[in-house]
Amino acid sequence: MGEQSKLAYARKAVWEHLNGQEKQEVMNIGEDYKGFLARAKTERELAVLIKEFAEKRGFVPLDACSEPVKPGDKIYRVVRGKSVLMAVAGEQPLSEGANVIGAHVDSPRLDLKVHPLCEDEGLALLKTHYYGGIKKYHWLALPLALHGVIYRRDGSGVGVNIGEDVRDPVFTISDLLPHLAKDQMEKKLTEAFPGESLRALCGSLPVEDKALKNRVKENILRLLHDKYGIEEEDLVSAELELVPAIPPRDVGFDESMVGAYGQDDRACAYAQLRGLAGVTRPLRTAVAIFADKEEIGSVGNTGMQSSMFADFMAELLEKTAGRFNELALRRSLNASRGLSADVSAALDPGFAETAEKDNTARLGCGVVLTKYTGSRGKSGCNDAHAEFLSRVIGRFNERKVIWQTGELGKVDQGGGGTIAYMMAAHGMDVVDCGVGLLGMHSPFEVSHKADLFMMIRGCEAFWSD
Ligand code: MN
Ligand code: MN
Repeated sequence: MGEQSKLAYARKAVWEHLNGQEKQEVMNIGEDYKGFLARAKTERELAVLIKEFAEKRGFVPLDACSEPVKPGDKIYRVVRGKSVLMAVAGEQPLSEGANVIGAHVDSPRLDLKVHPLCEDEGLALLKTHYYGGIKKYHWLALPLALHGVIYRRDGSGVGVNIGEDVRDPVFTISDLLPHLAKDQMEKKLTEAFPGESLRALCGSLPVEDKALKNRVKENILRLLHDKYGIEEEDLVSAELELVPAIPPRDVGFDESMVGAYGQDDRACAYAQLRGLAGVTRPLRTAVAIFADKEEIGSVGNTGMQSSMFADFMAELLEKTAGRFNELALRRSLNASRGLSADVSAALDPGFAETAEKDNTARLGCGVVLTKYTGSRGKSGCNDAHAEFLSRVIGRFNERKVIWQTGELGKVDQGGGGTIAYMMAAHGMDVVDCGVGLLGMHSPFEVSHKADLFMMIRGCEAFWSD
């Protein structure tokens, strides 16, 4: 190998640029991160965890602020129990812009249908409709946990969390034995596992009353009634999600990586939280968005296409300036700077042919700046301006944030999107920035602890700009 040219760009492996203390910090973050992922497998659980984190650090609910908001004040708002917005008020007037970082809190999963429970050949099953982009075969032969809420006819709600404790039962979608899979094996992957076939096994014992139809289903209904005080109709007003019942684990002999469900985009949500904890009295107001519904197009009133972010900024502006002024809000949004904090695809040596090597991120080589996402001719992406990318890179270099660039696959290979263009629609400059993952959208995504460490540093650097 020859010497590296002084003029050429070279990607850096984070680990090789850290001192002993920083390396220890990387490992400590890995431990803390696994605990975070284990506690928040759904958007609702993450919203609860963020609220807890916020309150512990002196953030107060925006709507409870009666006093004018002063520099250094910490504010948060939970939207419908699913999305969260947080801010630390800056020295500069908010009308001069904020520094905004936005991650999403939802992940691909299997939602139960509104009438989920059925009996087929003496087995009780839960019908599902998948949420977000999944490879359906990933969800077979896997222990699944059930998380969510059920609202009863009287309006009272009850939380559900079954399958995370090792003493809990789990649910599972059985796969066909290879011995009988001749026809299945010849099908295309897109056709071999129809969505309707994703039904999770949830019982097999009948009630004693032989005169009843569907005695196994009846038994499950009775168990649910005893445990939660619900009837079948109450499952209509429920949101129940099946997620992999696999705890986050270290990956590799060297324990350098984390394997877990839901790291898209909880890796960035985690980095945002850790980063924001270090922001005390920023020059510009620091805002963190934790948005729901990204995996299905950022729709609904908890998604990034809704007015929730602008509403939050409007309230914040009123509470800092003492009165609301539409023009001041627009000026503020236009003068704001944004990072869309979302994961990127790291080069997987097993599937290297899907990536273009020079422009794809590597695991362990720092935060991934992605100028554009989209697919087929950059369609639907934000495509950050050169001026803004230059500013962010400058700030990162100054603050020793090791960064690399990323691209979601070869040209015309596929693609994807983030909330970047929705943030930009408010007028602000935005670039995508996050950590690289292997196996994105699978039940066991892999991240690198050193990348997480750099992402936290990257958030701090961005908010201190
Ligand atoms: Mn994502
Ligand atoms: Mn995703």
